[in-house]
Amino acid sequence: LPMRALTALLLATAAVSANPQSAMPQPITAKRLQAHLEFIAHDLLEGRDTPSRGLDIAAIYIAAQLKIWGVEPGGDDGTYFQKVETKISAVDPKTTTLTINGKAMQIDRDFDAYLPESEISGEVVYVGFGFRAPSRGVDPYKGLDVKGKVLLIVNGVPKELPTEELYGGKIADVEYPIQAAARLGAKAILIAKPDDQGVAINIGANIPNIVLKRNAVEELMEGERVGADTLFSRTGTNDAGESFALAAGKTVAVKITRAERTLTYKNVVGIVRGSDPRLREEYVAIGAHYDHVGKQGESTATQDNIWNGADDDGSGTVATLEIAHAFATGPKPKRSTIFVWHAGEEKGLWGSAYFADHPTVPIDKIVTQLNIDMIGRSRKPGDTNIANKDLSDENSIYVIGSRMLSDDLGDAVVSVNKGLYNMRLDFKYDDPNDPEQFYYRSDHYNYAQKGIPIAFFFNGVHEDYHGPDDEVEKIDFVRMEKVTRTIYAIGFNIAMRAERPKVNKKAG
Ligand SMILES: [Zn+2]
Repeated sequence: LPMRALTALLLATAAVSANPQSAMPQPITAKRLQAHLEFIAHDLLEGRDTPSRGLDIAAIYIAAQLKIWGVEPGGDDGTYFQKVETKISAVDPKTTTLTINGKAMQIDRDFDAYLPESEISGEVVYVGFGFRAPSRGVDPYKGLDVKGKVLLIVNGVPKELPTEELYGGKIADVEYPIQAAARLGAKAILIAKPDDQGVAINIGANIPNIVLKRNAVEELMEGERVGADTLFSRTGTNDAGESFALAAGKTVAVKITRAERTLTYKNVVGIVRGSDPRLREEYVAIGAHYDHVGKQGESTATQDNIWNGADDDGSGTVATLEIAHAFATGPKPKRSTIFVWHAGEEKGLWGSAYFADHPTVPIDKIVTQLNIDMIGRSRKPGDTNIANKDLSDENSIYVIGSRMLSDDLGDAVVSVNKGLYNMRLDFKYDDPNDPEQFYYRSDHYNYAQKGIPIAFFFNGVHEDYHGPDDEVEKIDFVRMEKVTRTIYAIGFNIAMRAERPKVNKKAG
């Protein structure tokens, strides 16, 4: 059958839960998904931080594909791009200073500073890990006067405070370093950071946190009873050694200032027109986030520091691309489809918040949003790694939020899946009491806030989630092909219905 006849047949029989994929000249395939992802998750894109050159290159790649396939531009001024601006307030590296014993340190090389803005100076007291819990005999502040002083700590937890009990809230009288510092009147916390390790920072604390790197720690510990290497070696252990006041008269002065900056980046938007003269004014939105978190930490001899985000969310990025391709080159359903690749998701759902507030089509004409964020990884049989315990297997996928606003959408997801690959749909994260709260944690949430029924497709977290090993080599493209085709078929089904999915519930 020629393509047109097949399309006509498909639409005439309104076989909306059948697989329109079968009528396509170039169906969604594992190979095509892989080809896109090898580009999107390449080291040369440097982890697609928002904003970054690597992210912009990804945007150009997506737009180029859309143009080749004849997907209409859906962004600003007839382009595929929607410009987004986000104002942030951050430490100003030009006017933020640290001096140790009168010697000026260099920001970034020797130290990192965190808000709030402050200008303080004082003598320094070493207080180990900084935790205090008298009920367990832990009090590194005992016998020391830390009022008006600057605390020096290393990261770690004393052996008297087992982490399951500590983080499980089982130690009633525990004070975290930041709490003890505030109560005892200390002015700032210095954290000694070994070269090869990250450290925990108390972001949002109301006294300044300053991370000291090797140079600064060596300067500070000059002539003291323990040196820089000893301090570094205590990081991450259960034994921080004795507390002590550093030499009298040795002072640390810190000035932290803030600057407003405007970050500029873009969402990528494409549209495929529907076939029905009336219903084509409505849209099924399908989207993903094409950003990730860039480079993190230092690279080592065996490990680069580029977090490629092949699964998060390279997988959703290329799945959305292939779905756009399928709609552009295959049969046209009644409604239009709009594809949005959001930026800034990892920074706090920035791009989708902007799109929801500044939609490029009328927001009340978007009848559903299908969000794809992490569908590339699957748990292999026999995998006993605890970090993969919630990773879905090759025949399963988590669906989140599909009944949160609309039972019509929830029913469509179930019935289309059943008629296609009949994967096991796992709805466990729909529980409003689930501690992970994934419903609030990806771009669909900003659409749901506007009253748009959403469904979020997700494979669950895994050992490489937000790490340098979220690489394209670890993607299960066979499972990804099934999930992508299923989402395409769900989108097609919604775009074919006489009535848009009814909103019969209130947003959570
Ligand atoms: Zn993500």
